[in-house]
Amino acid sequence: MSEPLVIIGNGMAAAKLCEELAGRCLGRYAVGVIGAEPRLAYNRVLLSSLLAGEVEASDLVLRPAEWWAARGITLVYDRPAVAIDRAAGRVVLADGTFLPYAKLVLATGSHPVRLPLPGMTLPGVTAFRDMADVGTLLAAASRGTRAIVIGGGLLGLEAATGLAGAGAQTTVIHLADRLMERQLDARAAALLRRAVEARGIEVLLGASTQAIEGEDRVCGLRLADGRVLPADLVVVACGVRPNADLARAAGLACNRGVLVDDGLAASDPRIHAIGECAEHRGQVYGLVEPAYEQARVLAARLAGAEAAYAGSTVSTNLKVSGVRVFSAGDFDGGAGTQDIVLSDPGLGLYRRLVLRQEADATRLLGAVLFGDTADGGFYLDLIRSGRDIGRQRADLAFGRSFLSDPLSDTAEAA
Ligand SMILES: Cc1cc2nc3c(=O)[nH]c(=O)nc-3n(C[C@H](O)[C@H](O)[C@H](O)COP(=O)(O)OP(=O)(O)OC[C@H]3O[C@@H](n4cnc5c(N)ncnc54)[C@H](O)[C@@H]3O)c2cc1C
Repeated sequence: MSEPLVIIGNGMAAAKLCEELAGRCLGRYAVGVIGAEPRLAYNRVLLSSLLAGEVEASDLVLRPAEWWAARGITLVYDRPAVAIDRAAGRVVLADGTFLPYAKLVLATGSHPVRLPLPGMTLPGVTAFRDMADVGTLLAAASRGTRAIVIGGGLLGLEAATGLAGAGAQTTVIHLADRLMERQLDARAAALLRRAVEARGIEVLLGASTQAIEGEDRVCGLRLADGRVLPADLVVVACGVRPNADLARAAGLACNRGVLVDDGLAASDPRIHAIGECAEHRGQVYGLVEPAYEQARVLAARLAGAEAAYAGSTVSTNLKVSGVRVFSAGDFDGGAGTQDIVLSDPGLGLYRRLVLRQEADATRLLGAVLFGDTADGGFYLDLIRSGRDIGRQRADLAFGRSFLSDPLSDTAEAA
């Protein structure tokens, strides 16, 4: 008799967990996946490409309906879970029905951050998180639409590029003094700004939003310095916060996200959390790779194998066609670190490697690449492995193909 395993959230982490379970222990669990969105799990990362018109909605589907059916996985769409009844061991759905569980996995992702400012709920103000948001943006953006994107991070810039590509007159408002400040140092950010502006997008840095203006719908955005920018559409891309709502209401230990141990278990051992809703060793991740690593570990454990999650070293790639940006690890260095910098602003090329010279070894701590990111995976592998790069240091910045003294097997395979 299969044990009932319920997954709340039908996003990228849930889909990866199901794939891994199917590969490891098909039949051991009767798997039910509860999704709030009215569709099959899709590749959320590609929403930017969908907005930019580079792919079709159908290209985003992670697995077709037949795949789920063939593995006996029950999918519930368009019906959010509204409560976890831990005493009875069941999940209550929005229509009052429920699913019993022996094991429960939370994979509810994140909420987009909504700024606590006047006008944020006006029609014409939208987030950029799901397929419905992209539908709203595509319907609103056309030649002459005045669009403002609040947030000059990865999501904001991808939203702005998509809107500008659709003909909208687009402005990015960013609070910090440089774009993508959490991933880029000042020089890379300056190159990025130039590339973004070359697409006809206006960039306002150090700009703080005070209110969204409008009666029945948005008509402008007021900045803290008093300026009012006219707008037909405002996209709020100021980050995400883990969606731990159900866990919190059910009395599970939560901080920013659902607290999990190295086995991805929450404070109730029958309940696990993976993906953006989980907080592990003080970290919440807003990227897909950690969610996939967690899904692999959890599937192994659910299949009865030994496995533990020790955290992830993440990297960022901006998905704006023609603008190549990569960042990983400690990209800004500081006391006790050394930099290797290659820069050709004329060609729009920049590369910075941050190293630490230790008593017995030299290690790569971080990397920022702009213009040519082909070596990003290679540097990421070196950062993750913590290998000694002392002997390769002189050539390292030129990239993997220039190394006369190749590095590890792992690095070679990256
Ligand atoms: C536009 C965009 C571009 C991105 N680009 C990148 C990128 O380049 N690289 C990268 O690494 N990451 C990127 N990300 C982030 C990446 O998509 C996420 O890290 C990843 O989707 C996290 O997976 P998840 O399963 O934790 O959450 P999600 O994929 O968000 O899935 C969570 C699902 O749970 C559902 N849910 C929530 N509450 C309930 C409930 N009560 N009942 C039922 N269902 C519920 C939600 O509706 C959602 O479908 C991007 C995200 C966006 C929005």
